[in-house]
Amino acid sequence: MKQRTLAIVKPDGVSRNLVGTVLSRLEAEGLRIVAMKMIRMTKDQAKGFYKIHEGKPFFESVTDFMSSGPCVVLVLEGEDAIQRYRTLMGATDYTKAEEGTIRRAFATDIEKNVVHGSDSKETARFEIGYFFNALEVMG
Ligand code: ATP
Ligand code: MG
Repeated sequence: MKQRTLAIVKPDGVSRNLVGTVLSRLEAEGLRIVAMKMIRMTKDQAKGFYKIHEGKPFFESVTDFMSSGPCVVLVLEGEDAIQRYRTLMGATDYTKAEEGTIRRAFATDIEKNVVHGSDSKETARFEIGYFFNALEVMG
């Protein structure tokens, strides 16, 4: 099934010049970029993005991190894009991520893990709409 998913190169990925590396990996995987921009979230915007994690012990820290510098946000499209991109990213905790994944290769910390990807159809819909309007996503 053709799907769309929201990907982010997080502030650690942007500041470490990993944008091109991440984009080439996902393009090589056959995922198509159908929207892309660089943004810097405010603390409140980061809280809104991660509102499903409100109340968790890492919520304050991850929203500080996500608002600490620019991110590149993208919409990816392809067959089974949500799961394929999750597989390409690897586990949240990079020490548990599979060899060959983006996080295994580049993450430095459970929080500073370079990339984000939607985890379900419902969160993909919410997350794409959080950053992009209909005119900004290529049909
Ligand atoms: P993301 O949602 O960023 O794609 P994920 O779905 O693998 O990552 P989540 O469980 O949704 O992970 O957590 C969101 C983000 O919060 C993680 O990517 C990481 O940056 C941070 N995070 C998650 N768990 C922890 C933790 N135990 N300690 C510190 N930060 C964490
Ligand atoms: Mg998540």
